[in-house]
Amino acid sequence: MARHRERHMMGSIGWLRAAVLGANDGIVSTASLVLGVAAANASHNEILVTGIAGLVAGAMSMAAGEYVSVRSQADTEKAALDLEKTEIENDREGEHRELQQIYVKRGLDPILARQVAEQLMDHDALDAHARDELGITEAMSARPLQAAAASAASFALGAAMPVLAVAIVPQRILFATVAVLSIVCLAVLGALGAKAGGAPLVPAAVRVTFWGAVAMGITAAVGTFLGAPP
Ligand SMILES: [Zn+2]
Repeated sequence: MARHRERHMMGSIGWLRAAVLGANDGIVSTASLVLGVAAANASHNEILVTGIAGLVAGAMSMAAGEYVSVRSQADTEKAALDLEKTEIENDREGEHRELQQIYVKRGLDPILARQVAEQLMDHDALDAHARDELGITEAMSARPLQAAAASAASFALGAAMPVLAVAIVPQRILFATVAVLSIVCLAVLGALGAKAGGAPLVPAAVRVTFWGAVAMGITAAVGTFLGAPP
């Protein structure tokens, strides 16, 4: 029971960490953008439009990047499976010996390994080789569209925070509000990501918050430098 739950946890940890990192990106890049144009004395409406444009552009860029990288992983997996299929068709005995060796290396005695390889190849040869030789399983196989959507959604979720802050608060407290809210959200996300990975919370939260503050600070400085006089 414990091992089963652990395996499920491992699957969702990967997904949670990707979502946390995506949201981090959303907060840092959109809050920095907003603070940069706010420091350049843009109007309230200009800041809001910039924030929304940053959210959409960032989410689409994350989705495109994720899709392309996972798509190429899917292509690689498919090519490996096609090659494996041909090898099984052309040299079944050789492939059988190969699978047997894999099980021997995993600790089975040669006779049992031979029986296991035989039965698994009789049941579904490609599936056995995919899983035990190539490490490709149905559960872990690449899903480009799903990955792209998850990546865009997590970025948009993170970016929505500074955008909502701009939409709600009056201009005179906008800069401080976006800066403080972003720092707090980054700290919480940093801790969440660490907790998901079983790492210490505080160092992770400090790390994410520090670099987020650096990014926001530098962008605001650039905005102040390039901006119109108040
Ligand atoms: Zn093989």
